[in-house]
Amino acid sequence: MTAEFATGARIAVLTTEVVGVLDYLAPEGGVSPGALVLVPLGPRRVLGCVWGKGTGDFDLAKLRPVARVLDAAPLTDHMREFLERVGDYTLTPMGLMLRMATRAPDLDQPPALRRVIRRAGPAPARLTDARAAVLRVIDDHGGAGFAPAELAALAGVGTSVVKGLVAAGTLVEEQAPRDTPYPELDPDLPGKPLAEDQAAAAASLRQGLIDGGYATTLLRGVTGSGKTEVYLEAVAECLRQGRQALVLLPEIALSAEFLDRVEARFGARPGEWHSGVTRSERRRLWQMAASAGVDLVVGARSALFLPFRDLGLIVVDEEHDSSYKQEDGVLYNARDMAVLRGSIDGAQVVLASATPSLESWVNAGAGKYNRLDLHARWGAADLPDMGAIDLRDADMPAGRWISARLAAEVGARLERGEQSLLFLNRRGYAPVTVCRACGFQIGCDHCDARMVEHRFQNRLVCHQCGTSKPIPTACPSCGAEGRLAALGPGVERLAEEVVERFPQARTVVLSSDLFGSARALKQTITEIAAGGADIIIGTQIVAKGHNFPLLTLVGVIDADLGLQGADLRAAERSFQLMRQVAGRAGRHGAGQDGRAAGLALLQTHQPDHPVIRAILSGDDEAFWNAEVAARQAAGMPPFGRLAGIILSSPDATELSRFAQELSRHAQPLRDAGAELLGPAPAPIARIRGRHRMRFLIRAPRQAPVQAAIAAWLASLRPPTNLRVAVDIDPQSF
Ligand code: ADP
Ligand code: ZN
Repeated sequence: MTAEFATGARIAVLTTEVVGVLDYLAPEGGVSPGALVLVPLGPRRVLGCVWGKGTGDFDLAKLRPVARVLDAAPLTDHMREFLERVGDYTLTPMGLMLRMATRAPDLDQPPALRRVIRRAGPAPARLTDARAAVLRVIDDHGGAGFAPAELAALAGVGTSVVKGLVAAGTLVEEQAPRDTPYPELDPDLPGKPLAEDQAAAAASLRQGLIDGGYATTLLRGVTGSGKTEVYLEAVAECLRQGRQALVLLPEIALSAEFLDRVEARFGARPGEWHSGVTRSERRRLWQMAASAGVDLVVGARSALFLPFRDLGLIVVDEEHDSSYKQEDGVLYNARDMAVLRGSIDGAQVVLASATPSLESWVNAGAGKYNRLDLHARWGAADLPDMGAIDLRDADMPAGRWISARLAAEVGARLERGEQSLLFLNRRGYAPVTVCRACGFQIGCDHCDARMVEHRFQNRLVCHQCGTSKPIPTACPSCGAEGRLAALGPGVERLAEEVVERFPQARTVVLSSDLFGSARALKQTITEIAAGGADIIIGTQIVAKGHNFPLLTLVGVIDADLGLQGADLRAAERSFQLMRQVAGRAGRHGAGQDGRAAGLALLQTHQPDHPVIRAILSGDDEAFWNAEVAARQAAGMPPFGRLAGIILSSPDATELSRFAQELSRHAQPLRDAGAELLGPAPAPIARIRGRHRMRFLIRAPRQAPVQAAIAAWLASLRPPTNLRVAVDIDPQSF
């Protein structure tokens, strides 16, 4: 008889089906909470996590037994509570939450020995391009960690090149256990001597760590004011306390430059977590987070779901950045969930930004967050000078986008050997392709969106689904030959104008679609920073965290671009983006070496628009306060709550029938004091062949929105092909 040890266990099961936590028969000897296990589910075996004691509702003899207990580190109580709370908040089933938390490959494999390559000596005298590529990859990653084939693949060369470098003694191949701890960081290496307000801010953050427990601090200061230097001091204190620290960055800002900076401060490289990290490193980092074998992790938003054993500090840099919102799968905002995780783990949370989100600004104003301000730019007194160019009287010829005034400033920079940045947040050549004979605009076959001409690739591309096709010569609608025209500017078209007007200048276009890999983009950015270009044309990827020391002019080609639209966040987003871009001018050296302060010029048709005026005046607080007042008056976030419900289906009729039906079941929402708006076609009414309709739910701050939505949606079973996605706190509304 096995009754005495055959107790049941509740196990969260990794599955995309709605079932989340199920009862299983515990293995002999029992299992402890948080342990990762394999359990049978139907005909499959899936990963699960022990969530608690069995409910006792089932006959033990009928329960299926746990198949195997993995020797991966268990999830802590804090971690499981975090997953549960995020799941409740975002209305995500436990199975999906568990998948977020176990995004590391091969957790069901025991740690094994593997062959890894390590840098062992100087580069060989005969350094071919292929060999140089291999060395670049390994040096970029701290000189170690790759399996031979993995290293060759990342460098884009054959394994024989790696073998050749081993034979030459530059690299060695050795046996290493798979999951070794990361080198310890040394918090007591000297940092940079801090300026007065930096020192005060650092002391305050340090004190928070010494006092222990949870608090969130908004660390505000313009780009270049030294925020990074300050929060690295908080990291140092966290390390002294023997706890783990996490720094989140928008993916694009996760540069080798940043990691080098951390290494220079602490004498070793941190753990790295983002889409470019190899499978084996991801597994190792997961295990080391769980077993406290890594002190500091620098990562993109999903690093927040690593199973840290003892997290003392979370920094969210550029906290306003919209890329912290995950827009598929589990819809969460990593900034908000970082605050939640901090409160569960008893950790300090630092939100850093030059242009905080309105939410954080309000929370700081209400005393929910502490606020620390850095005032001056480090080592330089001024922000760039700002000016507007009124396009209404600029007399621009058709097909031209650079005004005479802006062109003159660019010309002056060229003569002085300084760099100019022309900012236009539009990828491709032209946003619209229209037939001049019949007026037809070329759209995507699968989405309710126009195709965008990308002349460098000679294709039309849909920015929603990525479908592309060759640029036709005849109109697909009326058949007229040679009458298709490009309307409006994209960065590629702007580049054409620049090359025409400044043929002697070295011009480079920075747009995410023009770079095959993050590495290629970084390489170009490094070259630009070293002076390898005179005129930089860029989309929003230039706004984030890159240093261009020679840059003294920023021209915003179309400052009105983000201001239109019904989206209530349009003003906030435009403000943040333009403010960040303007801040690129004269970041270094202003006032030094006799160099002038930078200049930022906004080309606009509405120089009196409040957003444009706020940027020109430099009075950020006035802008935020006005925005706050507007949101408050409208009962919009963060004063009221919003949720978006997107229904999608390949069948438009069925979709609209179901949406109508749902709107008749809204009683649970009304009971909770929430208001249901819609159904209406979603802002993009069709994506990848699926029609989309949207409801918006608006509720007072304290209303139990999640529970009401869950009850509402449970009242009606959707047809098989219809998907329902719930977006709590949507980015656009
Ligand atoms: P932010 O994070 O606010 O953009 P950073 O911390 O990156 O600002 O600082 C901007 C630049 O100034 C960096 O190159 C940094 O190394 C330098 N810097 C900041 N503080 C100091 C300091 N106290 N001493 C020397 N250099 C500093
Ligand atoms: Zn499409």
